Formats: sequence, C-alpha cells, structure tokens
Amino acid sequence: MSKDDRADYNAVFPTELGPAMPHPITLIPGDGIGPEVTDAVLFVLSQTTVQIEWHRQNAGVKVFEQEGTPLPDTVLDSVRQNGVALKGPIGTPIGTGFRSVNVEIRRALDLYANLRPVLSLPGLKNRFGDVDLIVIRENTEDLYSGLEHEVVPGVVESLKVITKTASERIARFAFEYARREKRNSITAVHKANILKLGDGLFLESVRAVAQQFKEEIRYNEKIVDAASMHLVLNPSQFDILLLPNLYGDIVSDLCAGLVGGLGLVPSANIGKDFAVFEAVHGTAPDIAGQQLANPTALLLSSVLMLRHLNENAEADRIVAALHKVLTAGQVLTPDLGGTATTMKFAEAIANELNRNQVSNQ
Ligand code: ATP
Repeated sequence: MSKDDRADYNAVFPTELGPAMPHPITLIPGDGIGPEVTDAVLFVLSQTTVQIEWHRQNAGVKVFEQEGTPLPDTVLDSVRQNGVALKGPIGTPIGTGFRSVNVEIRRALDLYANLRPVLSLPGLKNRFGDVDLIVIRENTEDLYSGLEHEVVPGVVESLKVITKTASERIARFAFEYARREKRNSITAVHKANILKLGDGLFLESVRAVAQQFKEEIRYNEKIVDAASMHLVLNPSQFDILLLPNLYGDIVSDLCAGLVGGLGLVPSANIGKDFAVFEAVHGTAPDIAGQQLANPTALLLSSVLMLRHLNENAEADRIVAALHKVLTAGQVLTPDLGGTATTMKFAEAIANELNRNQVSNQ
C-alpha cells in the first residue's frame, strides 16, 4: 500500500458503536482560543450526519475563579462515563495546585499514548513538500512526573522518571498502530548517549518490543538533536517517531512547523479505557477572543475522534471539504495568509460539506 492510498488521520481504536446511536461525547471548550475553535468545529460537525449528544463541561481559568478548582471532579467523571472527549486547550493559573490541567487530565485518565499525525495539507505552501509523519509520544512520565524540589536555596532538582512498564506500553502501542495502519518504520528518539540510565531503559524497552515485530516493521534509533536536524532537512525519511514525553512535546511542535504551524495539527490521547481528542496548540492568549484562530487543528482532532467512533464516511467528508477550502485559497485564517475569521472559515467548510451532500443526491 502506498502512502497515497492510506486514509488520512487513521483510526485509533475503532469501537463497536454503530452509526445509528447518538454518541455521548464530553465537550471541554477550555480557555484562550479554545471556545472559538470549539464553536467552529461544532458548527462543522452539526452539518454532518453523525449523531452526537454533547455533554459540555467547563474546566480552566474561569472555573477556577468560580469553583476554586480548574478541574472539577464532574469533568473527569463525564469523560469516564462517556469514554470519549473533545477538548480545547486549558490554561492553568498559578496557585491552583496543578502544574497543568491538560497534563492532569491525561494522568488521571491514564491516557498513556499521545498520537499526532503531521500531514501536509493541499493548497498550503510549505518548504517540505509531502510530509506524512506520525508522532507517538509517551504521555505519563519523564520530566512530567512533577517531581521537582529545591534542595537548598539556589539548587533545584527536577526528576526525570522512566519506567520499563510505561516504555514497553508506549512501544507496543506504536508497533501495533504501525501494523494496523500499514506503516513501514518506527524511529525511537532519545538522548541515551547522555542519559545513559533513563533513556537507556527507554531504548532497551522499545528494542524488546521491536524485536517481536521485526518481520513487519523497520526499527531505527536517533539521538534527539540529530533527529531534529534530519527532520528539517528531509522529513520524508521518517515514518513514525516514537518519543518519551518531553522530546515528544518539543519535536511535535517542530513537526507542526513543517506543515504550516500549530493551527493545523491534531492529536489523540489514548488510554485503555478512554480517549481525549485535542489540538496540539495551547491557549494562544495573543490571539484569543479575536476570531483569528485557525480551527483546523481541533477540526482534524474531531476527525480522529470520528474515526475512533467508526464514523469513517463522515470523517472522510470533513477532510475532503477542508481540502477543498484550502485548495481554493479564498477563505483562509490569518495564520495561512488570509483574512477570514475563525467562524467564516468553518462556514466555508460547512458549505463544501453541504455542496458535496447535494451533489451526491
Ligand atoms: P499555552 O501556554 O497555553 O501553551 P502559548 O501561547 O504559549 O499557550 P500556543 O497556544 O501553543 O502556545 O501557541 C503558540 C503560538 O502559535 C500562539 O501565540 C499563536 O500565535 C499560534 N497559534 C497557536 N494555535 C493557533 C491556531 N489555532 N491558529 C492560529 N495560530 C495559532
């Protein structure tokens, strides 16, 4: 199967749910540009045939002011009940007791795998031609364990935790994903030349899993600094990148830059029991509330979500409508060189969806 034959934004874990039942989904609009991009995505989804019962939950800065916590229990309870959430970026004010509400949601729901497809979109100029990468980031440990303390004034320790269990678990996720989606190779990214024990254990664990898939999937390793250089020289030499948490965060923003920026890249946080779909970008306070944000990243996150729910036909229609709007180049948000508002861009996609619906009748 060639890369061209492969469906964009592939299924993560298809479920047994049939298309006739409304899907109960938790919706967390979040902070900053979150509510605007969420409104835009809801509008596009409302023009599809997918039946969704939205359970809206608020988390973040405003909730903290009202309820004294940025992450009320009801938010996590709702995701636990529905199994699936679509989420905007959440800000974490100082003094809430949380390092990051986004990180806490992943931790509390054990969403151990972060999957970020980075694909070139048609109609957009970028320096790198046809980028088609999958970034798979371990989501639960590393420097995100939150173990930081001041040893004595002027000396701080931040602990990087790597375990065999979590490393093998993310490696297994990556290799099973590669097998299912007919991907060719996985590159583990590390700094084991310096972090001989921590990243050494990560590599050792990944190698053990790679060995079990060696007939089907090529396995390589690259040091994170060299991997970054090779990514900007020639991204097409990579297929799936597998990284511990911190390098995964940094390298996936780098990869977003390869295809036109943070407004374009979606992600899925996957655990054994739950899945939360969100854009790679944060709250972008510099452009919040001005209808300047590009909703594509959250829209493509919702496409990942639809595939997870086995709603592949409507997911394909959304991607086709988005491609049409981008290729026409008439209605684009400012990050893509246009002047359209967030909602006008969403309306253009909805118009394409409806046009496509009429022409199919
Ligand atoms: P946070 O602290 O929540 O991560 P941040 O501003 O540090 O927020 P991002 O939100 O990831 O980081 O955004 C970095 C920059 O990328 C923003 O300042 C904004 O200019 C741009 N950006 C991010 N998301 C979008 C988007 N959806 N559309 C257009 N530009 C975006």
